[in-house]
Amino acid sequence: MSRRISNRRYPARKCKNPACKEGFVPHDRRQEYCEPQCRINANNDRRFEANKTRFSDEKQVRLNNRILEALWKKMQGQKQKLIHKSILEWEKFRFDSQAMIVKNTITGNSILWYYDYGLELTDQTRKLYELHKKS
Ligand SMILES: [Zn+2]
Repeated sequence: MSRRISNRRYPARKCKNPACKEGFVPHDRRQEYCEPQCRINANNDRRFEANKTRFSDEKQVRLNNRILEALWKKMQGQKQKLIHKSILEWEKFRFDSQAMIVKNTITGNSILWYYDYGLELTDQTRKLYELHKKS
């Protein structure tokens, strides 16, 4: 037999793949998975999960954009520019989703951009935001 098999014995451990968790006897001190395919599967699952959260965040950013678009149209009719935070929350706007933050050089405030629309916190104590549209 040409294949070298180590005589060293390592204590049995559990496979690191959350979907497997089988007990196995490692033939190498660094072996974390019961077999190579299990390592590949675990890596694929991890990548899939990472993509899922990334896409769900993109979905929320698009939803944020739609909410701001609807508010923009409504406010244009009322010649209004300021929105209270409670209205945004009522519309299911999510502040924690990814946004591009750009500083307004005139006011010094940060503007949170979600695609075409941006929110600028103009009155911190009264929780008022000014709505911006990309020109
Ligand atoms: Zn396994």
